Amino acid sequence: MKRQIGNRTEINSTTDNIAISVRNLYKSFNLPTEQSSGLKQAIFNRLRGVKGYTEQKVLKDINFKIKKGEFVGIIGRNGSGKSTLLKILAGIYYPQKGDIIINGNLIPFIELGVGFNPELTGRENVYLNGALLGFSNEEMDTMYDDIWEFAELKQFQDQKLKNYSSGMQVRLAFSIAIRAHGNILLLDEVLAVGDAAFQQKCNDYFRSLKDQKQTVILVTHSMENVTKFCTRAILIESGKIIQDGDPNKVSAAYTKMLAN
Ligand code: ATP
Ligand code: MG
Repeated sequence: MKRQIGNRTEINSTTDNIAISVRNLYKSFNLPTEQSSGLKQAIFNRLRGVKGYTEQKVLKDINFKIKKGEFVGIIGRNGSGKSTLLKILAGIYYPQKGDIIINGNLIPFIELGVGFNPELTGRENVYLNGALLGFSNEEMDTMYDDIWEFAELKQFQDQKLKNYSSGMQVRLAFSIAIRAHGNILLLDEVLAVGDAAFQQKCNDYFRSLKDQKQTVILVTHSMENVTKFCTRAILIESGKIIQDGDPNKVSAAYTKMLAN
């Protein structure tokens, strides 16, 4: 099976031991300048050859290969391009240039609870979110209790989601998302909002992923998690990879960089 989305290709090869390959990846966003608002101004700008936007280069020539079974931490300052990279891997954003090959079934934990409806109850949202992940009603019936048990929110199942705290919503979304079947997981700071007890649960989940030799890319600001779970770390600074390798060394380099 081969599916081509722009420069992003999804394959399913059991013989190839590379799970993700990224080559010469560039991403920029066009930010409208103040003078470009309004149709009249847009036409005027065009006639005068004024662009009306500035180009912000966010990822500049990113290259890496991730082997099956690697647990890779992506680290870097706020705004360095980590989430943008993950969104491109997930096919949410499109790059201007570059080739991406995804070999396997990818599960993104990036915008958790995207399909949630605040006006529906927790119960209704579980079924809704499950459907978005491709599960049938029957499958959701069998997983339903486990989902609430993991989230530890069963007493809230019949309340509208808008009455949940943001941390509770992420717990529920996370608990649903981990049911999805896949062998490449993209996780963007899902742990950051949980309390200590939930983080412990997520730690156990990560540990099991590591034991099962799943391929994981984890974007995080926690150097503790990088050294605890990752087999490799990639440090991004201003849209470029400046270090790639041993998690202890790369996280130490990042900590040192922040101190300067
Ligand atoms: P953080 O650690 O704060 O989560 P990050 O490394 O994940 O940061 P990104 O979210 O990838 O950073 O953002 C990188 C840059 O791209 C930022 O300057 C941000 O403003 C810009 N950016 C991200 N998404 C968009 C967008 N949809 N439109 C315009 N600019 C964007
Ligand atoms: Mg981010």
